[in-house]
Amino acid sequence: MLTTTASPARPETVLDHDIACPIGWCDETGPHPTHRQYLYTVPGAVREDGHLGVNLVQRDRPGEPIRVELTSTTARSDDLALKLNTTRATDIAQALTAAVTKAARLHSATSGQEPPVG
Ligand SMILES: [Zn+2]
Repeated sequence: MLTTTASPARPETVLDHDIACPIGWCDETGPHPTHRQYLYTVPGAVREDGHLGVNLVQRDRPGEPIRVELTSTTARSDDLALKLNTTRATDIAQALTAAVTKAARLHSATSGQEPPVG
């Protein structure tokens, strides 16, 4: 399931780390080296307890491109973040779709059954 990631709630007391970023699309607050907009979360995408996040990111330096970021968070391993060139993100999405189709085909060919979810 794909869910839209809600922006973090704003507390009533405003502290330094709660000050909104001047970059209009950025969800981060306070000082931060990378602007980030949280777009989607896919619960259960990494093992049973992990989730995959899809964000937009841009380093806070002039001329830096906006990239697509994939993040992985699980209880058993270190968090992972991959920053992808937007020109290749569509290729990766197509590769994932092709891999899922191939995995289902291989499962059916070897077991004669529909693939399990997961
Ligand atoms: Zn920012």
